[in-house]
Amino acid sequence: MVRKLLQSVREYKKDTWLTPLFLLGEVAMEVVIPLFMAELIDQGITGGQMNQVVKYGLILVLFALVSLVFGALAGKHSAIAMAGFGKNLRYDLFRHVQQLSYSNMDKFSTSGIVTRLTTDITHVQNAFLMIIRIAFRSPVMMIFATIMTYRISPTIAMWFVIVIPVLAAGMLIIMKYSFPIFERAFGSYDDLNKVVQENVRGIRVVKSYVREEREISKFQAVSERIFAQMVKAERILSYELPLMQIVLYAVMLIISWIGAKLVVGGTMTTGELTSVFAYSMQILMSLMTLGFVIIMVAIARASAGRINDLLSEQPDITSPEAPVTQLHSGEVEFRNVSFRYSDKAEQYALSGINLHIRSGQTIGIIGASGSAKSTMVQLIPRLYDVSDGEVRVSGTNVKHFDLKVLRDQVAMVLQKNVLFEGTIKENLRWGNEAASDEELIEACRAAQAHEFISTFPDGYDTHLAQGGTNVSGGQKQRLCIARALLKKPKILILDDSTSAVDTRTDALIRGVFKESIPDTTKIIIAQRIASVEDADQIIVLHEGRMADIGTHQELLRRSVIYQEAYHTQTKGGEEQNGQH
Ligand code: ADP
Ligand code: MG
Repeated sequence: MVRKLLQSVREYKKDTWLTPLFLLGEVAMEVVIPLFMAELIDQGITGGQMNQVVKYGLILVLFALVSLVFGALAGKHSAIAMAGFGKNLRYDLFRHVQQLSYSNMDKFSTSGIVTRLTTDITHVQNAFLMIIRIAFRSPVMMIFATIMTYRISPTIAMWFVIVIPVLAAGMLIIMKYSFPIFERAFGSYDDLNKVVQENVRGIRVVKSYVREEREISKFQAVSERIFAQMVKAERILSYELPLMQIVLYAVMLIISWIGAKLVVGGTMTTGELTSVFAYSMQILMSLMTLGFVIIMVAIARASAGRINDLLSEQPDITSPEAPVTQLHSGEVEFRNVSFRYSDKAEQYALSGINLHIRSGQTIGIIGASGSAKSTMVQLIPRLYDVSDGEVRVSGTNVKHFDLKVLRDQVAMVLQKNVLFEGTIKENLRWGNEAASDEELIEACRAAQAHEFISTFPDGYDTHLAQGGTNVSGGQKQRLCIARALLKKPKILILDDSTSAVDTRTDALIRGVFKESIPDTTKIIIAQRIASVEDADQIIVLHEGRMADIGTHQELLRRSVIYQEAYHTQTKGGEEQNGQH
């Protein structure tokens, strides 16, 4: 798992290695400094020689400066390495998400993906910084300082060797108890993100149902949970400081006790005793920061695991090895097609579909909601792959086409269509980046969108808000149709795409289709019989199966489902007009 994430370090490898290298220099300086300090005290102060004070004083300043430079260099390179690693990892993850198919995405929640791209990467990035800085520096420091102490007094060094493991054990126990609580708290952050994102995305619905208070209390509940978990974890962690202090004073006492005897006995100088104190401080400080790093890394491990889950999700719909890059006609064929949304699902959403659509035909699909209309058409541009059977376009199994070619030639206006933040022009050019202004206008005329766009003060340069919230539902649908038309596809699929458009405009759009794109196969899913009655064939879907197929007249004669739909709609038909 770690190796996979570390692949994102790439061009920042150099900075990653330079960091510990410079830190090594810094540690070396810091370990040598107490030695000169000892000389300064023994020869300069105790010996009463002013020139020695000046000499060692200058050396100390010099070493301190060099240590500072090493420290600054390490800081600079570690910052570059950390930020660079984060940038690459974020890029890799985002890129990976773009390659995932609908069914891959079904496995992750939107907020889960957002959390991985933001908070989780920040955690991993911080842990990476800590590892290249402190996880290396602290142990080296402890070893060096112990060795230096040993050179001055083996007895005191022995005491260090005993005390350090005891202290480390104490810290490990504290961590063992606090870590699971931290982990749970960070899991709760995920829930918090979910509440916030769902709320913000659906804020209009929340307001229209006057659900604000309920949403606030939902948020409050998660927030309180995080609070409680954090307090609990921090309370356990707070034992760490007293523990450190007890150990610190104990060590000081021991050193003073032994040191005093040695100094009085004449085997140790006052200066040497001071440097032993300095080394003991360095060791304890290193130990404490190391403990902190271990906690950070442990927290980041959960994040790393989640990032890894997403990165390891194999895109399950890709272009084949030797793809077919020519799509000649809009012929569509379903052969014994069945489909279920996941291998674990017991129910098939769609089963036993056999169907042949000649190029240029207009096909209507009618059926109650949940009868798998959307599911069926999504198989044509391979938004999902069939579970059994095959879907063929232009005489070739869709799995054999280059994905881009297939999706360029099969334009689909999704039921949950989306416009993106930007101008109308920019949004339309998703269909065809090279489209001229004339082509844009032509497509919009066909989709009956030109008229209302012209009434906007900024016309085609009108800025659309995120999700296209500043145009009406029916206007949004017509823009989406225009966007699909710009692709000049061989097959055009409209998934309930005129539901919010008034019946007259709906009829106009169909009229234009007949005249201006006669060779394009048109598949139209609709709730209104009127939207499909002049189609060459109408498919009646019922609970994932094809209940019937035929022309309007044929179905009126023999399909009960179709008759029912027709009668309910014609009775209320007059009221439906111009509703939207
Ligand atoms: P329609 O478009 O006719 O209203 P759908 O094709 O959207 O119906 O849905 C058909 C069935 O498949 C429904 O039972 C629905 O619950 C299920 N379904 C749709 N999308 C998914 C999905 N992404 N994951 C699992 N089940 C789904
Ligand atoms: Mg649908």
